[in-house]
Amino acid sequence: MNKLISFLSIALFTFFGCEKEISKENQLIMHTAELHEKIITIDTHVDTPLRLYRSGFNLGEMHDSHQGGGKLDFPRMVQGNLDAAFFAVFVGQGERTPEANEKIKKRAFAIIDSINVQLELNKDDAEFAGNVLQLKNIVSNGKRAILFGMENGYPVGSDLSLVKTFYDKGILYITLCHTKNNDICDSSDDPDGAEHNGLSEFGKEVVKEMNRLGMMIDISHVSDKSFYDVIELTEAPVIASHSCTRALRDHPRNMTDEMIKTLAKNGGVIQIAFYSDYIKKTKPNPQRDSARQALRDKYNNFKDLSDEEHAAASNEWIEIDRIYQKDLATVSELVDHIDHVANLVGIDHVGLGSDFDGGGELEDCYDVTAIGNVTHELVKRGYSDKEIEKIWGGNLMRVFTNVEQVAVK
Ligand SMILES: [Zn+2]
Repeated sequence: MNKLISFLSIALFTFFGCEKEISKENQLIMHTAELHEKIITIDTHVDTPLRLYRSGFNLGEMHDSHQGGGKLDFPRMVQGNLDAAFFAVFVGQGERTPEANEKIKKRAFAIIDSINVQLELNKDDAEFAGNVLQLKNIVSNGKRAILFGMENGYPVGSDLSLVKTFYDKGILYITLCHTKNNDICDSSDDPDGAEHNGLSEFGKEVVKEMNRLGMMIDISHVSDKSFYDVIELTEAPVIASHSCTRALRDHPRNMTDEMIKTLAKNGGVIQIAFYSDYIKKTKPNPQRDSARQALRDKYNNFKDLSDEEHAAASNEWIEIDRIYQKDLATVSELVDHIDHVANLVGIDHVGLGSDFDGGGELEDCYDVTAIGNVTHELVKRGYSDKEIEKIWGGNLMRVFTNVEQVAVK
């Protein structure tokens, strides 16, 4: 958006200062800026809560993404004009024993608490939204709407009653698994392959319970078979909170055309991720990989670090990022995935889920301040205002409303 704002001021200067005809490019930039400001913009997946564990990180303060400040905070959401974001309560998959399940459930509670502390601290800037109506009200009051999703159903363990416990704490979607199989379903990335051949018997109960409560089922990270099992069972539309298309990038985390067609029939939506390696085949960077591995080894895989050790580790991490720069995808390549879905099943089944602070970053959309560049690319490619409004949140709000209606029935 920075870029857009500076473009916009050039455009205005040209218009008022020189009274010259505004070029077509400048007209598009001005139109983008106006549209991007007017519509409700929703990002369905940011991993920013991971940062809240770090003592002293205040979402109400502006940070620098190039200095280890992450991709998002409330002032930068304002700058980039992002109205609403689903904060992921993420836990990595570990052991599935009663003791480990108990421990991870408590960690999930603690992460939710840490977001609530930030919302309380910054209540003039942002507020929790528990449904579509609340989201719209918060946005119309000029505040950021923050919603909770849970990335990985691991904290549910094998206790069905915990689905409602988490729902009551504000969790509006559950990404059924992460990069390993869990008690709910098989993952797309588990190196050991399938364990349940899709959704487990317990997973089927979880899907029914989520339908009953009005929680969105998130199929990002699940195996293809798990996806089809969910679709077979669910009475409500589902979301992929942060995925791309396999036709453009052959990666197990992405959705095949067949899956996208099935998703569209279900009434659901795929939220395209700003994750370079899902967008395109990125160039290998072995020096960066080994430097990162060396750092992990040096700092005990970043476990049980003191505040000083944590600060030192993150400084070294930033330095590695600076020296060995990653091959990043561009906004244009991201929008290619939107084009693909729109051409395949129409405009009603595609949206955006950045994965900021979980690996989401693009060359020309490095953090939340630059999301206007996505709108600009859509404008340039001829998407109408209505279509862009659907991509940026309209489709997601439709799905969320349908999910709520199924619960009421
Ligand atoms: Zn993820």
